[in-house]
Amino acid sequence: MFGLPASVGFASVAAAGRLAQRLAHLVYTEVVGGSNPSAPTTFPKTLVSTRFNRTMARMSKSALQLFLLLLMTFAAHGKPSLTHETGKAKKTADMPMDLDLTEGQPQPTNAAPQTPPKAAKNTPPRKVNAVAPTNSVPAPSAPAYMVPTENWVALDRWAKQNKLPGLENLSTPGAPLYELRAPIGSFQIRPGSNLAAWSGLELRLGFEPQLIADTPLLHRLDLEKNLVPLLVGGAPHVTAQRVIVLDPGHGGTDSGTRSAEGDLEKDHTLDWALRLASLLRTQGWTVALTRTNDTQMSLTDRVAFTDRHRADLFLSLHFNATTQPYHAGIETYCVTPMGMPSNVTRSYEDNTTLVFPNNLFDAQNLQLALNIHRAILKATGGRDRGVRRARFLSVLRAQNRPAVLIEGGYLSNPDEAKLIISEDYRQKLAQAVADALK
Ligand SMILES: [Zn+2]
Repeated sequence: MFGLPASVGFASVAAAGRLAQRLAHLVYTEVVGGSNPSAPTTFPKTLVSTRFNRTMARMSKSALQLFLLLLMTFAAHGKPSLTHETGKAKKTADMPMDLDLTEGQPQPTNAAPQTPPKAAKNTPPRKVNAVAPTNSVPAPSAPAYMVPTENWVALDRWAKQNKLPGLENLSTPGAPLYELRAPIGSFQIRPGSNLAAWSGLELRLGFEPQLIADTPLLHRLDLEKNLVPLLVGGAPHVTAQRVIVLDPGHGGTDSGTRSAEGDLEKDHTLDWALRLASLLRTQGWTVALTRTNDTQMSLTDRVAFTDRHRADLFLSLHFNATTQPYHAGIETYCVTPMGMPSNVTRSYEDNTTLVFPNNLFDAQNLQLALNIHRAILKATGGRDRGVRRARFLSVLRAQNRPAVLIEGGYLSNPDEAKLIISEDYRQKLAQAVADALK
């Protein structure tokens, strides 16, 4: 599903597509001088050159993308509302400190309270297949699931309406736990906690599920942006060229985090990326790296670099650190969908009304993140610190393609630092990511 709120669902996307087609058609008739009102918008070779065809196709795609962005920006000011104010952002106390992931001025944490996200009124339920088209590759058919209009959804009833088994109550005294079993995995929620799980993998929800009259309620955005993409499953669609950009975090004077022994993040992210590039090339990927040596590159330039390469996917590789030396494990990040609080905010404002270009790929981001996260945990045996959402990651949010950022362990943890500085561990990380992209 496109990263649009209920007020501008598929109907608007379809309208955008029609408008783009009309624009292309108008350009065609104006430029070519065609007077036939039924002139095709596919620009047959008998009328125009192949080069012109390509130009028109690009213009049509650009017009569609521009219009979608305008729609999303407009929708960001629509500010729909929670009917229940119980869904709050869960600010994790154990925030990692790999801080050099954003550009611009940090926002104060005591910013004015944000207007909570709202759902448009009187919007009919939509069918969502959770797949956003990318790079001209048509989305495959996928199961469609209904996304209701109400902000809190009785999960048991929703499951049955969508031909899934109902919820199983696995609660123990004082620890509510419910599981939805689907053909491709199981989804566990804990009312009162944003910590969820998908087939054993940790996943952070945007809103804490509620338990009202023994009925577990899931927020509509968690249903649409988390559960449905999980139920649909799969991986992001890529072009035949299979272009991927790997981004070794930091570089040059920006060393990133460091271990107590002085090992620098920038060195180990580069080595991880070079190993991964080699593996991916053998799997048929066209790989470009934002840096191949100890040089500095702004986050904006990293995004521009990825655009120039017309990458299908973008992976940013990092290692973590915190003031708590016992923290260890793997985290995988993608951009927070509009309307949903982030799981990690650090010292930055988390404006839930913002929409970024990368929000077009909310569903694919999650699928990519989970596939990689699962593979890394399996290969390294590292602690699962979850797939998380954040808005402040500049290198992700401007990406016009599925994009994730991987924190491959904590340099601030002495035991994990020993692993990270070993070639064997970095090779395992590289192999795991490559395996996830087969
Ligand atoms: Zn980093």
